[in-house]
Amino acid sequence: MTDRLERAKSLLRDVHDFPKPGIVFKDITPLLGDGDAFVAVLDDIAARYAPRGVQKILGIEARGFIFGAALAARMGVGFVPARKPKKLPWKTDRAEYALEYGTDAIEIHQQSFAPGERVLLVDDVIATGGTAAAALSLVERQGATAVGAAFVIELGFLQGRAKLPDGLDVYAVMRF
Ligand code: AMP
Repeated sequence: MTDRLERAKSLLRDVHDFPKPGIVFKDITPLLGDGDAFVAVLDDIAARYAPRGVQKILGIEARGFIFGAALAARMGVGFVPARKPKKLPWKTDRAEYALEYGTDAIEIHQQSFAPGERVLLVDDVIATGGTAAAALSLVERQGATAVGAAFVIELGFLQGRAKLPDGLDVYAVMRF
């Protein structure tokens, strides 16, 4: 990792027992508040995926919107938001995924992607991988092609990567 990215990593704040006991929440807001750190993260992801012919970025609510939309503008491609249920106003496609207790779901608008369109998924953190796997299933359902999944932070001990499709170019700027 470059010095610039090491510095960006040092800006992350661990918040213990948020949102519930036992969770160490990776707070990205100090990194976002630092222009050089924010741009360093965007530059790193953009450089990795520039050769992959990305045509659209799919960002996951809510912090995936921050990085995903900035990255889409940086790469000159469109942005699609994946949202919690019942937030999007038009017709949606929905994917459910398992939580520790129960299920959650995410939605994208129907016809978000053209058939064969090349999509990069972006989120701030990959933990168990359930959210990203569900979002990727929606890309496939709409006939588009996922070319990668990029995260700012990977919590490697949760092995979320194993839930993502074989052969997908999965990348995390920072690993724990
Ligand atoms: P998962 O589906 O378990 O991979 O969880 C990923 C989603 O939950 C991402 O959208 C993250 O923003 C959020 N998340 C999970 N664990 C953490 C954590 N320790 N710190 C910050 N965000 C987290």
